[in-house]
Amino acid sequence: MSAQTEPKLVTQIDFARAGRITPQMKEVAEREHRDPEYIRERVADGRISIPANIVHIKKGMRAFGVGEGLSTKVNVNLGISGDKADAAEEWKKVKIAEDFGADAIMDLSNSGKTRQFRQQLIDETPLMVGTVPMYDAIGYMEKPLVKLTKDDLFEVVRAHAEDGVDFMTIHCGINKSVTKTFKETGRLMNIVSRGGSLLFGWMEVTGNENPFYEFYDELLEICHEYDVTISLGDSCRPGCLYDSNDATETAEMIELGKLCKRAWAAGVQVMVEGPGHMALDEIAANMKLQKRLCHNAPFYVLGPLVTDIGVGYDHITAAIGGAISASSGADFLCYVTPAEHLCLPNAQDVLDGLMATKIAAHAADIAKKVPHARDMDDKMGQARRKLDWDAMWECALDPVTGKKRYEESPAATEGTCTMCGKMCAVRTVNKIFEGTTIDLGIED
Ligand code: SF4
Repeated sequence: MSAQTEPKLVTQIDFARAGRITPQMKEVAEREHRDPEYIRERVADGRISIPANIVHIKKGMRAFGVGEGLSTKVNVNLGISGDKADAAEEWKKVKIAEDFGADAIMDLSNSGKTRQFRQQLIDETPLMVGTVPMYDAIGYMEKPLVKLTKDDLFEVVRAHAEDGVDFMTIHCGINKSVTKTFKETGRLMNIVSRGGSLLFGWMEVTGNENPFYEFYDELLEICHEYDVTISLGDSCRPGCLYDSNDATETAEMIELGKLCKRAWAAGVQVMVEGPGHMALDEIAANMKLQKRLCHNAPFYVLGPLVTDIGVGYDHITAAIGGAISASSGADFLCYVTPAEHLCLPNAQDVLDGLMATKIAAHAADIAKKVPHARDMDDKMGQARRKLDWDAMWECALDPVTGKKRYEESPAATEGTCTMCGKMCAVRTVNKIFEGTTIDLGIED
């Protein structure tokens, strides 16, 4: 009798289904205060993804879990554009992302030779790294969009996988059926996803089906080989409130749900991307519909931006939507900066966008009752009651900015700040409970 050989286990989902707990599952369990079996079960059925390319694992990346019952993850986008190619500035952004608690960095470089930056990023950062190969295709293949072939596009995907990219946004769901719905029903802002617009343009000019849809099984083979988590791009995300939850967005979401099942069947981890712009009162329903149509796959959301007119402050419009989306089921928030709709963000924009998104994610985690999510808030309450400023910096999401503002405006009365000075409510009540003199109105 021939010896039974175990099927080759490569991806986290392969191992999970075989009942095996990987070091990455253990690491996620420890950080999230969950039992490793809780993580394994959910990786096995797709409710949790651990985007960790086998190449990046060898370079010492940290493992992050995205999905049900886990803390909401936050992504920072950066990368060189054709109009602004300053690699030093992009490295400053990498440092901010790492120092201020991002979980992922998406390298959206879309001009020239991007491979060196991507490879160095994967060598150096322990955070999850994501890319959108479609952005890179024209520069990588040195060909105009309409001359790119299916083989060219898949070669770019393979190059990103070989480099160690942990998750790739690929717009597989915009097929001929979805574009038919789009053209028939119309939209105010048409297609605002960069990758989606490139594929739509390619499909319209060549007359061909979206190759990432038509040859999806081949794409899954590449993703499986390296354990790349496929992040199913939402080409038809609404770019304004008027287009949200319309027929086109929903038609694509139905396709994405089918593609989730095919990815899982092939042993590939999946996330699904979501809106966009959306009125506050529509967000919770959209999250629930996505989870239903996409079989509880982790949902990776941009905002949504809850108004179209917050230009210059879209980190705030997105954070409001982000708090609602994450508390209603979204698992991963892509940051939005004050430069959204205006220009490539600078380093300060990156910090502002990251902090706004971190706050949204954290607020949602408290509402979702993620284990230990509010521990730091309770510690902050204690530190504030004691007017213990050093303890406050230890609790703060951004201690650097907080401390700087406090020290820039020294208070005359010890322990207080210049907001209320001697009339500090905390100080007054502390004095009452300590039984010491209340010195208000009494000059020293
Ligand atoms: S002075 Fe006012 S703002 Fe400052 S710590 Fe006291 S109560 Fe708070």
